[in-house]
Amino acid sequence: MDHRTIWIVYAAVFGLLIGSFLNVVISRLAVVDWRERGSLGGRSACPNCGHHITWYENIPLLSWLALRGRCRGCQQRISLQYPLVEAGTSLAWLAVALAADSVADLVTGVIFLTLLIPISVIDLKLRIIPDELNTAIIWLGFACSLGFGPRPRFLGHQWWWVEVLASALGASIFLLLPYLLTKRGGMGFGDVKLVLGLGAFLGAPVAVGLFAGFLAGLVPSIYLIATRGLAKGRKSAIPFGPFLAMGGAFGWFFGPQILDAYLRIGA
Ligand SMILES: [Zn+2]
Repeated sequence: MDHRTIWIVYAAVFGLLIGSFLNVVISRLAVVDWRERGSLGGRSACPNCGHHITWYENIPLLSWLALRGRCRGCQQRISLQYPLVEAGTSLAWLAVALAADSVADLVTGVIFLTLLIPISVIDLKLRIIPDELNTAIIWLGFACSLGFGPRPRFLGHQWWWVEVLASALGASIFLLLPYLLTKRGGMGFGDVKLVLGLGAFLGAPVAVGLFAGFLAGLVPSIYLIATRGLAKGRKSAIPFGPFLAMGGAFGWFFGPQILDAYLRIGA
């Protein structure tokens, strides 16, 4: 195997392990009342029967398949969330390893995509984005972009930091309008903060990410309104975080090229 192949296999395996850790993060953070939140340490146990999960029942993906998705203690079904998050994180790391063209790119990409996963899952489950995760994505985004420099520099060499700040602030201000309009359902303030983080990571290509996210979110919204009527469809709003996260991921992989092509047509 050549160097690059080894890197890519390594990323996929490491992604599986990180995915397993993300499941722990999700179960600890996805509790509405903070007093019930556990620490990240401690041994995992079955939520149904309290059966302690041994190391060989805790191997990412493989254990779930070997146990056929059931607890060894009580035969209760283990949520599909576990193998899906593990496989999804592994795929995300694999894709970043394939797309990255520098070490800085690789580091930024895996941090960004790894954060988007628990944000999406928790928003799907509870319709909230925990502040811990939004704070992490905002600060790590600025740290990566300002530390390594953003991938494309549309404003030239001296002004790239202005580009990062302006993109992040611009994107979150842009989201304030739909937030104020859909206040009782749909977008929450967590989404506004999330978009600040997306802009911090992506720089100017966050525009592509937002566009992709809105487009993806529009499909289920239109479907709900079409099947349940305008009034009901608007009330049964879907959580928007996962779509913004998908858009953000799309923006990371394809945003720079798309924005570049777009600006060239305009010039
Ligand atoms: Zn059990």
